[in-house]
Amino acid sequence: MRSVQEADIIPKYWYNIVPDLPENLPPMRKLDGSVVKPEELRAIFAKSLVDQEFSTDRFIPIPEDLRELYAELGRPTPLLRAYRLERYLDTPARIYYKYEGVLPTGSHKVNTAVAQAYFIKLDGFSRVVTETGAGQWGSALALAGSLFGLKVRVYMVRVSYEQKPYRRILMQLYGAEVVPSPSTLTDVGRKILSENPNHPGSLGIAISEAIEDTIKNQDTTRYSLGSVLNHVLLHQTIIGQEALKQLEAIGEDLPDYVVGCVGGGSNFAGLAYPVYYEAIVRGRKKDVKIIAVEPKAVPSMTRGVYTYDYGDTAGLTPLLKMYTVGHRYTPPPIHAGGLRYHGVAPTLAVLVKNDVVKPVAYHQTEVFSAAQLFAKVEGIVPAPESAHAVKAVIDIALEAKKRNEKVVILFNMSGHGLLDLAGYQEYLEGRLKDFEPQHIDLSYLPKMPE
Ligand SMILES: *Cc1c(COP(=O)(O)O)cnc(C)c1O
Repeated sequence: MRSVQEADIIPKYWYNIVPDLPENLPPMRKLDGSVVKPEELRAIFAKSLVDQEFSTDRFIPIPEDLRELYAELGRPTPLLRAYRLERYLDTPARIYYKYEGVLPTGSHKVNTAVAQAYFIKLDGFSRVVTETGAGQWGSALALAGSLFGLKVRVYMVRVSYEQKPYRRILMQLYGAEVVPSPSTLTDVGRKILSENPNHPGSLGIAISEAIEDTIKNQDTTRYSLGSVLNHVLLHQTIIGQEALKQLEAIGEDLPDYVVGCVGGGSNFAGLAYPVYYEAIVRGRKKDVKIIAVEPKAVPSMTRGVYTYDYGDTAGLTPLLKMYTVGHRYTPPPIHAGGLRYHGVAPTLAVLVKNDVVKPVAYHQTEVFSAAQLFAKVEGIVPAPESAHAVKAVIDIALEAKKRNEKVVILFNMSGHGLLDLAGYQEYLEGRLKDFEPQHIDLSYLPKMPE
């Protein structure tokens, strides 16, 4: 059991960055350029979550039941100091990290999964549907569904279903129905299978199946997404709020650097947005450096364009203004599956455009080598996604050494890599490859009003 005092630091509010952005958030649009209204999303998403999606309130109360559940699932997560890494690097920097890998499915995704399941249940639904690639999001939602007595169906990309069995087994263990996609359960799936019975599947197809399923079962079912949207990002802000209280408790001021990896942007936002609020909005440390790390193979922030694009690879969602390499971009097969996303969250895109957040990109071999160093000195095996943040932190700590600066670095260890050992095996055997970015072509994107 955790002490009451520890549970006490779990925040009472989620932080919504929308009213504090340096410029107005561009609205979601439809293909004809018109602005999407909240009512139009309610057939797919639960009303409470749509309200959060469009909210301009800075603080959104966390229901007390949910706060208790966060405590029962292991929050607050530990804030650890990487003493041995500091000593190994011989750096004057102090390196702290929030370790989200202690949550039951091994990553931060549980934070929004339980919040979404809570509101879907509250709004009167009995079933939730989603898609998953490698299975991190699917397993978090499967657990959340089990906790709230919701039926869960996960459309899982067929190749992952066959080649990455562990997270599928985890989902099934929690009682979710896991369907290899394309499936015979939807019109989209049946059409694709009739043309190619051995189709390997794709995230785009899995999303199409999940959305069709939701629309056909509207009375009972809602759809759920694990990143990118405002309501998902704000659920994650418990991470950064906890971290700030934990730093304060040991006498540390606000960090000089905040670092996180970016797929859609949810773990990054979860840690960085509350720091942005304290440091920049409230003016306590205007020179804080906020670093977002992405793979060079999917360089949405470092080489993409700030423009309207679909949130999904199938082009079914509304158009969101973001940094994107285009929804038709085929991400090379890097092991950090959670970072193989063509865009970033619209709020994060505004911060990048305004130079508040600085993006950096790395190749996967240098990332795995940083992760191995981290594992050897600290013990924790980073998820390949989180390892991108580790690599950036090591570079910052070595820079600090050159300049002999006692900077404080805070990063998000968004998950552990114990279900990703196949990637580490390739790395150890010298078989891991780097992938240059694919050609970026955005000419097919619709023209939208400014
Ligand atoms: C899914 C995932 C990510 C990437 O998603 P974000 O929404 O950008 O956080 C990063 N780390 C881990 C461990 C993940 O499972």
